[in-house]
Amino acid sequence: MTTIRNNLQAVRARIAAACAAAQRPVNDVTLLAVSKTFGPDAVREAHAGGQLAFGENYIQEAVEKMALLADLPLQWHCIGPIQSNKTRLVAQHFDWAHTVDRLKIAQRLSDQRPEGKPPLSVCIQVNIDGGAAKSGVPPNEVAGLAREVARLPALRLRGLMTIPEPAPDFEAQREVHARAAALLRQLQAEGLALDTLSMGMSADLEAAIAAGSTMVRVGTAIFGGRPRAG
Ligand SMILES: *Cc1c(COP(=O)(O)O)cnc(C)c1O
Repeated sequence: MTTIRNNLQAVRARIAAACAAAQRPVNDVTLLAVSKTFGPDAVREAHAGGQLAFGENYIQEAVEKMALLADLPLQWHCIGPIQSNKTRLVAQHFDWAHTVDRLKIAQRLSDQRPEGKPPLSVCIQVNIDGGAAKSGVPPNEVAGLAREVARLPALRLRGLMTIPEPAPDFEAQREVHARAAALLRQLQAEGLALDTLSMGMSADLEAAIAAGSTMVRVGTAIFGGRPRAG
């Protein structure tokens, strides 16, 4: 087996063990393979290993990759920052956008979603640990934005997404992820039909699953180290 397929199996085993430890069914958690900076051949290898959902940060790079992989039934998730001038590409080409952090971006995504496509699934990115320079909505502004986004006709609000700073150990990681889980429960209690917590990466997926993650975004542990930052 190739390295990518072996790595995928190892990551699936980590997810299964984390679900067992948390007494959660393993199909609660979707694995998103983060293929940013890797070419179409790496995505093909992962697909051959049974992987269907892929996450990309750089929109132009992603759209070029999708064109080369159009023969495969893949699901594409935008997990990078979305500037106004990129919303049309996201609305046209992606299945999910995890990084909605302003109503203006959500509005454009909804307006630009092509007729005939299913609604674009979106998450609101939350700045869960308050990093000053970070993207994401402050936790106390999430509910207001969520109510507005939930009304947009061509979007389907699915839940929340976080990218916390690296934390020193499992308990510290879990504590931050638990704050996002509590915020999701609060929105659900207010009547929003949400089913997604996009959190956990190669280094902290166990803690994220312990706290209630439903979608882990894993790059390095599947594809190896990236040639450039991102
Ligand atoms: C790169 C990236 C990931 C994957 O990170 P790894 O540490 O390589 O698993 C997940 N989420 C986002 C938003 C990313 O930018």
